[in-house]
Amino acid sequence: MRDRSLESFKEVIKKILDAYRLQLGVDEDVKIKIRRYRTRAAFSNIKTKTIYINKELLDLGEETLKYLILHELIHIKLNTKYHNGEFHSILSRFISPEEITIIRRNISERLLKIKS
Ligand SMILES: [Zn+2]
Repeated sequence: MRDRSLESFKEVIKKILDAYRLQLGVDEDVKIKIRRYRTRAAFSNIKTKTIYINKELLDLGEETLKYLILHELIHIKLNTKYHNGEFHSILSRFISPEEITIIRRNISERLLKIKS
């Protein structure tokens, strides 16, 4: 996080979350918590419908935030921690595999920098 304040990131995150909730038909309230993690990009608690996002990744850009939120929201929608066929089918409706490869590479590079 450099240029933007945490508050402005939270606004962006809320907009992304609401848009995907609508598109995926997730009616329940979903909470997002931003914390600092050394190795994890994002994860979710399916029972409490809470998505946790690594604060260190916020400034990687909106596409990265979209991917992280969408990914975790699909877990919540399907009520599974697994990446099954249905999971990938929904994900690929919104973000192409090529795009995901680039986003995941950027995330890995950033996480490596935190560890060193
Ligand atoms: Zn996952």
